Amino acid sequence: MDLDLLDSTLASIGEPAYRARQAWAWQARGAAGWESMTDLPALLRARLAEQVPFSTLELEHEATARDGTVKALFRTHDGRPVEAVLMRYRDGRRSLCLSSQSGCPLTCTFCATGQMRFGRNLTAWEILDQALHFRRIEELDHCVFMGMGEPMMNLDNVLAACRRLPDLGISHRRTAISTVGWVPGIDRLAQSDMPIRLALSLHAPENELRSAIMPVNDRHPLHEVLAACERFYERKRRMIFIEYVMLAGVNDRHEQALQLVRLLDRRRFKVNLIPYNPTGSLYEGSSRAAVEAFRAVLEEHGLQATVRLTRGRDIDAACGQLAAKALTG
Ligand code: SAH
Repeated sequence: MDLDLLDSTLASIGEPAYRARQAWAWQARGAAGWESMTDLPALLRARLAEQVPFSTLELEHEATARDGTVKALFRTHDGRPVEAVLMRYRDGRRSLCLSSQSGCPLTCTFCATGQMRFGRNLTAWEILDQALHFRRIEELDHCVFMGMGEPMMNLDNVLAACRRLPDLGISHRRTAISTVGWVPGIDRLAQSDMPIRLALSLHAPENELRSAIMPVNDRHPLHEVLAACERFYERKRRMIFIEYVMLAGVNDRHEQALQLVRLLDRRRFKVNLIPYNPTGSLYEGSSRAAVEAFRAVLEEHGLQATVRLTRGRDIDAACGQLAAKALTG
């Protein structure tokens, strides 16, 4: 819900501002509509229902994978696609993956979102409404900004949304923002009072390869990005996650694992190897054995490394896939 619109609507009809806080408290606990907000007078609810849409997003499509992962495709009021995913883990964890932009202005060659046209930044309310959609299904506890878009290029709105996530049960410590390495954004996140985690999409251990698969590396080269991560660590004292998507024959060789070991300070970084979700691009994902061998080299040299669980494969839950399909028909 556009809470600015709610504030101005309440003011225009002479209602006290605390009504907005009441309405938010209901939403944050998973209320399904205006009618369930029973401590608001019925007449007021009816009036607000006419003037303030319950969500800024319209659900266009939803799919549940065999592993319980739920993926939703929404449209904004101006028709932009937005996708979000709810991941359910056996230990009971419920983790959201949210989008910060519709499309993405960056053009990482392996990413489906990078191949579609950039739409625009999402508002804070459009970001929160993704989370609220899933909150109406069940309780939540983790959130990552690993959906469509580059969160650091829309950081004001991302942080405004993060500010309210604890009301939904998602603390800042259980929230992570993933970036291609947008240096000014990393520095701003380091200055924020919220203890949000940082995840860096590294994907290559040296500049030449990184620029080839992530053109943004020409603007913010590897060593500047890692220096920004170092500043983040100095300030926040929290380990930084390195995301490394495993592309067969591109970045998965033994020598590249060793380069990664030399590049990353094991006291600052933990590596998360990501099995590639094929998206019709030029790339193929590394085999399971290649991923495991790569991980073993990192671990042997004292660098913490895990392999990301693949979720929702049967419903195209990879970054950008659903929206990209929706656009091409
Ligand atoms: N722009 C931000 C956040 C969005 S992408 C960033 O790049 O970090 C979230 C993660 O998914 C990134 O690490 C991205 O590189 C990765 N990713 C993109 N396409 C993928 C695919 N097809 N399979 C696996 N991971 C992918």
